[in-house]
Amino acid sequence: MGKTITARIDELRERLRYHSYRYYVLVEPEISDADFDTMQRELVSLEEAHPELITPDSPTQRVGAPPSELFGSVTHRQRLFSLDNAESTEDLEAWEARLERLLGRRPAGYAAELKIDGLAVSLTYEAGVLVQGATRGDGVTGEDITQNMRAVASIPLRLIGDPPALMEVRGEVYMALDVFDDLNRKQAESGDRPFINARNAAVGAVRQKDPSITADRKVSIWVYQLGHMEGGPDLASHSQTIEYLRSLGLRTNPELTVTSDLAGVVKYVESIEKRRNGFDYQTDGVVIKVDSLADQSELGFTSKAPRWAIAYKFAPEEQITRLNGIEINIGRTGRATPFAVLEPVFVGGANVGMATLHNEDEVHRKDVRIGDQVVVRRAGDVIPEVVGPVTSVRTGEEVEWRMPTDCPFCGNPIVRPDGEKDARCSGGLECPQRVREWLFHFAARGAMDIEGMGYKTVDLLLSNGLIKGPADIFFLEPDQLLEFEGWGEISVNNLMAGIQEARDRPIARLLVGLGVRHVGGTVARLLAKTFRSIDSLTEATEGQIAEVEGVGPIIAASVVEWANDEANRDLIERLRLGGVRLEDPEPDGIDTSQLAGVTLVITGSLESIGRDAAKVAVEDRGGKVTSSVSKKTTAVVAGAAPGSKLGKAQDLGVPVVDEAKFLQLLERGPEVLQ
Ligand code: NAD
Repeated sequence: MGKTITARIDELRERLRYHSYRYYVLVEPEISDADFDTMQRELVSLEEAHPELITPDSPTQRVGAPPSELFGSVTHRQRLFSLDNAESTEDLEAWEARLERLLGRRPAGYAAELKIDGLAVSLTYEAGVLVQGATRGDGVTGEDITQNMRAVASIPLRLIGDPPALMEVRGEVYMALDVFDDLNRKQAESGDRPFINARNAAVGAVRQKDPSITADRKVSIWVYQLGHMEGGPDLASHSQTIEYLRSLGLRTNPELTVTSDLAGVVKYVESIEKRRNGFDYQTDGVVIKVDSLADQSELGFTSKAPRWAIAYKFAPEEQITRLNGIEINIGRTGRATPFAVLEPVFVGGANVGMATLHNEDEVHRKDVRIGDQVVVRRAGDVIPEVVGPVTSVRTGEEVEWRMPTDCPFCGNPIVRPDGEKDARCSGGLECPQRVREWLFHFAARGAMDIEGMGYKTVDLLLSNGLIKGPADIFFLEPDQLLEFEGWGEISVNNLMAGIQEARDRPIARLLVGLGVRHVGGTVARLLAKTFRSIDSLTEATEGQIAEVEGVGPIIAASVVEWANDEANRDLIERLRLGGVRLEDPEPDGIDTSQLAGVTLVITGSLESIGRDAAKVAVEDRGGKVTSSVSKKTTAVVAGAAPGSKLGKAQDLGVPVVDEAKFLQLLERGPEVLQ
């Protein structure tokens, strides 16, 4: 051992100190939290194996970073601590086992609350009056941010009720996500680089020399802990303490839950993880505290954290990785969208190798360059995004990106009209990529909904020259398809049946599929309701179209421009020849007896229509929706995550239909069940 281990320990300590400084003081981290934590864990395990090498100044023995010199310093009455981490149920069980060993029994209960991702502050009240605000700093000494805390609207300057003689509380200052979005919009408008995340923005707002900037940035606080107190009531538990703090007018988070055992904690963690992206602030985990204050004082602290609390951390939603390149895609309208090609990285629970960059201006505003280390964010179901570069690690070799002058797919110029934010491929339908995207869109669910016509089929048909545009789909012959490898009679018949069904879609869907600029689902339905056929729409004047409620002059102009384009007129004629219905059958849209005698049960959630709206739609057509399945039920509609009703339907032999079929049922009546 000897030298190499000592050297490694020294190296880790130095790097951890450096990165803590960048993270806490400069608020410009160079590495991801996950990488920081890995280094920290390595140091902890080396020190555990060689306790003789632990020094009091090791980063494992202290929290955060020493305070900056921007503010005066404050010595905390009681140290502020960090938290030990858990990442799995097993980690929580190991924690409970430790508690049991130390206490000689299991704790009687736990308080579980959200871990807010912001910055820890300490507030001191004397006789109910706010006299000091401080950052955590290294736990012993923090920065004096009293003036800035006074500028935070949700921090009371004077407590209400019956405040104690002296009280110090801890809380997390954070920026609500809507405030954060607003701030970044303003940054964009003034040409400034956006903040990477709400935490950085909150820290930036607090660590300002000028408190009026803090006030402007509208940060808030959740108070989560009582520190030192003199002259207050006797309190028995953490949850009771939080109640007390709330009674004094301090803002405490309503999600706090008390459970009697660890199983309850695990349930809470699972439910919060599911709802994680539904809060109006960033949470990066759940903090679990032994509820009894007597148990807490028996358990005490390690050098860094209380033994009576643990932070269950969720999978990180941000990572740092290399931007290997920037490429563009051409969408169905010809829009050129840049996207990042990344060194693959695990973030937000998935491997991410590509991320959107929205448009050319966005790339320049964020100042991301090829070769940069970049922050990648993937939160919930939102598509991954490059948030910004880590400029401090630039080598000078990074390359600025420009929108290519020619389309990489068809070679035609890419143009960006003055004043528009999007660049477009000028190749029109010569551009194979644009056609590909259009065909995919045309056949997709919200449009013509052609079963079996995904990217794979579209690519196959395009590359074999069987289709060049949407109308060609309706001229496909089964024999042509049977020649393809892997296509048997069943798959060919399925596709042909899908195409046959699509011939009969309402014209609103066809309009969506045709991709008229500014005409999405809602506008298409409005137009269809008024004009009822593609022909009357194409013959209508701009004025007539603009008169439709909900349709303005911009949309009207766009529809007329589209209708006047010869290529579009040809397309419509070819669709007509291909047997596509260009007129809606029912003048008033709804046939009030279409579903007469039909009784449906809906289970699970539907994507395109809410449960209530679905019920109304069925009733408008003379049908019934009931809540339990019986022999009289015509069909059970199963959405996502259906319940036990599905099993019941199968037991009784009642047909089960999916959402697509349900929508057809609404459009065409019970014949679709045959
Ligand atoms: P922590 O974030 O893991 O947990 C402690 C903190 O949680 C407390 O100080 C408090 O501010 C906060 N907290 C939020 N809600 C709370 C609640 N309800 N009850 C109690 N506390 C609550 O610990 P830390 O020491 O502040 O920071 C460590 C984190 O910072 C790690 O995730 C680490 O990866 C990251 N970090 C990253 C870098 C980097 O370079 N990327 C550098 C240093 C630290």
